[in-house]
Amino acid sequence: MKRRELLRGSLVAGAGAALGAVGGCGPTGTEPQAPVTFEPGGSLPWINWAGNQSCLPNWRLAPVSEDQLVGVMKSARGVVRAVGGSHSFSAVVPTDDTLVATDLLSGMIGHDPERLQATFLAGTRLNAMGPMLDAVGQALPNMPDMDYPALGGSIANSVHATGSTFGSASSYVTALTLATPSGELMECSADRNAEVFQAARTSIGALGIVSRMTLQNQHAFDLTEVNRVENMNDVFDDIQARLRNHRHFECFPMPYSSQCITVATDIAAPADANAGEDDPNAVNTLRNLYEATAWIPRVGHGLYGAILDSVLSGESTTVRTGPSYRVFPHVRIVRFREMEYTVPAAAGPECAREILRTIEARRLPLYFPLEVRYVKADDIWLSMFEGQDGCSISVHQFGDLDYRAPFAEIEPIFWKYGGRPHWGKLHTLDADRLAGIYPRHWQDFQEVRRTLDPQGRMLNPHLKTLFGV
Ligand SMILES: Cc1cc2nc3c(=O)[nH]c(=O)nc-3n(C[C@H](O)[C@H](O)[C@H](O)COP(=O)(O)OP(=O)(O)OC[C@H]3O[C@@H](n4cnc5c(N)ncnc54)[C@H](O)[C@@H]3O)c2cc1C
Repeated sequence: MKRRELLRGSLVAGAGAALGAVGGCGPTGTEPQAPVTFEPGGSLPWINWAGNQSCLPNWRLAPVSEDQLVGVMKSARGVVRAVGGSHSFSAVVPTDDTLVATDLLSGMIGHDPERLQATFLAGTRLNAMGPMLDAVGQALPNMPDMDYPALGGSIANSVHATGSTFGSASSYVTALTLATPSGELMECSADRNAEVFQAARTSIGALGIVSRMTLQNQHAFDLTEVNRVENMNDVFDDIQARLRNHRHFECFPMPYSSQCITVATDIAAPADANAGEDDPNAVNTLRNLYEATAWIPRVGHGLYGAILDSVLSGESTTVRTGPSYRVFPHVRIVRFREMEYTVPAAAGPECAREILRTIEARRLPLYFPLEVRYVKADDIWLSMFEGQDGCSISVHQFGDLDYRAPFAEIEPIFWKYGGRPHWGKLHTLDADRLAGIYPRHWQDFQEVRRTLDPQGRMLNPHLKTLFGV
């Protein structure tokens, strides 16, 4: 194995945990990649990006206008679910009744150069928004680590990036229009239908289908992202300074290793230039190394960690620079499954350390790097960041390997630190537990939901579990 290859794999992980290639994930997976198949004459299956959620909707609709969307809401049969980019890991989308694709409700429909705001139809993919905003001199202040999802799906789940002075994507929504389950188009903002606005800014798609949103942006800007390999303990000990000194900072601790990848992103300086290269396939080297060593009785995991430490330490940096909408996102070609909880910001390093200790002590087959990010508090009722600055910690598993058993060993650690699960990622909490971790507005949200959707038309089995219906 070439030292540089492994580093590249790690740096790809550092850029966002999409390690390895699908083809490199091996033929002996514990879960099929396509749990449903198309039977000629039957329903067209829907499957999510990770391949762990699927359904066979009887009706698949794709309205091209808000009028059509209203018609859909009035006439749709059975349970109605919206789908954006299908990038959620949890079962927030599936229904065998009516699936409403938002793809054709796409595009920027207005902008305000004074306020630096822009209005988009909700099906617009994040990767289409950057160039459209750039053309009018605006940019999103922050973006998640990949840009395939739709705006509507991102807001529904309170998607986030990293940066301790930046809120979640939902926190930049200043107004939205909701097609309610009864087929009304409801305009919502802090001044208009304010309670519905607070609920709809993170709704898990339970209140209806959002048709458009206005976002608070900023002037277009360039960024430079610097990836380094550093000692994990040093980084955790110094985390407050890193958060202060960089516009965006995140780290990717590597299980069984003393090293982590750090990613610091700041406003670009004129002399900044790209250096080094990403290889989205290189994570397979990490997996190959684990599989070649970890099975060896008694010493395997230690050997894996020692080799990893030796090839990673002292490696040089990679740099990516350019317009913000090109630097924030990364290429994702590896299937994986993910669990993420947000714990109070101050507890982040301690929680991450306990997860890493647990993985090592129990020899869990989790060698994908963790991802540790920071997000500013907001006031959105069901946002993971409601009322407190958060540290979001993700645990990943390759798409063809069992995630349930190892995730079950890690999830209680998140509970211990008061974690709130990402709505679009894997977790096992139900309404009783969730009500306890959203003490301020859980009931407010349920009241708005019951008012807008008294018959529960928007609730699939997963949402019924979440809301205790
Ligand atoms: C490779 C990868 C990387 C990821 N990186 C990040 C990351 O950096 N940060 C992060 O926070 N998450 C991340 N995620 C998770 C993902 O971004 C979220 O789950 C996001 O919500 C998915 O958006 P989507 O458009 O694919 O929504 P979908 O999965 O299609 O839908 C999500 C929810 O939104 C609802 N919905 C969709 N459109 C609307 C609408 N118009 N109105 C109302 N409800 C609607 C759906 O019914 C569903 O409940 C990642 C996922 C993957 C697979």
